Amino acid sequence: MPAVTARKPAPAKHGTARLVGGNDRAREALLSGLAAELAVRLAGQDEWTAYLLEPRLAPAGLAGWRLVRYDEGGYAAYDLPADLSGCDCPDARHRARQGGCKHRRACRAALTRIGLLAAKE
Ligand SMILES: [Zn+2]
Repeated sequence: MPAVTARKPAPAKHGTARLVGGNDRAREALLSGLAAELAVRLAGQDEWTAYLLEPRLAPAGLAGWRLVRYDEGGYAAYDLPADLSGCDCPDARHRARQGGCKHRRACRAALTRIGLLAAKE
């Protein structure tokens, strides 16, 4: 009988998130309903991944955020609620991580820095 080995869960990814063009410009764009560019670099890697961070607006106000990755690897879009309590990426749907997936953590770091999300958690 073959031995059954438990798969180790993929480790949480940590890194750095920067709003391209500066925090003030990104804040102004997001408050105007426009997208800002968010660059994310995972710890231990040299490459940055570029995302567009877009506010999803509803008549009542901010409904959430859409994070769009566009690079030679393809296109992916993830939706997050306004309070960043979730993400619809595969990692978030299949794993419960402290602080959430890399998208939630990157958005939280960037939006907290520019005052568009209350600092907590
Ligand atoms: Zn995610």
